[in-house]
Amino acid sequence: LQINRKALDAAKTRGIASYRKLTGELAIAFVPEFFGIYVDHKPALHGLGKTVQEASLLEQIAADPSGISDTKIEQSVAAKPRVCALRMTKTALRDIRFRRNVLDAYGNQCAMCAVQLKLVEAAHIVPVEHPDGTDETCNGVALCVLHHRAYDHGLISFDEDFKIRVNGKKLQKLEVESRGGGAQSFKKALRENLHLPANAGAHPKAAHVKKANSLRGWTK
Ligand SMILES: [Zn+2]
Repeated sequence: LQINRKALDAAKTRGIASYRKLTGELAIAFVPEFFGIYVDHKPALHGLGKTVQEASLLEQIAADPSGISDTKIEQSVAAKPRVCALRMTKTALRDIRFRRNVLDAYGNQCAMCAVQLKLVEAAHIVPVEHPDGTDETCNGVALCVLHHRAYDHGLISFDEDFKIRVNGKKLQKLEVESRGGGAQSFKKALRENLHLPANAGAHPKAAHVKKANSLRGWTK
């Protein structure tokens, strides 16, 4: 299928773009991060071109992946595989945009150790599975793979004033289990305070930080 210029440009900013041809064929343009979803759901995604309504639902999701509920998708689309394809598309687009927004805000640099080297990921502060978890940039922080894992495991965190903290109890427990190796250099590599984006609107929101710390069992 040939893709027009407008759709290619839209895909670059939105993650995907689609349009229905007069023949009922659906043309889809997408960024590389969407390739896996496209391959897994290819027939169902193109099947959305069979009706104007379903094709337009895909466009609406591309425009605003958080704006359409799963219930709305289920009510509007009859075939299960197409429902599934739309839901997966929605989740993937949210992930792609969250990742881009967070990494752009932090200059692709780990907020805790300043490493770049394409080892940096977008970590959710309040986990996305939690009812209060959102994909806003202020619920994200750019962390290298090591610090992302350590943050999710509750080994390190940061306060509402962005001071980085190490969980002493957890570290002690690991030492007792003879798994405390590297603790000193691990601690030394951490900055004192989080390296923050220039744009204050992208800074971790205090309410998210507080919620996340209580979810991970942190106390002052
Ligand atoms: Zn790091």
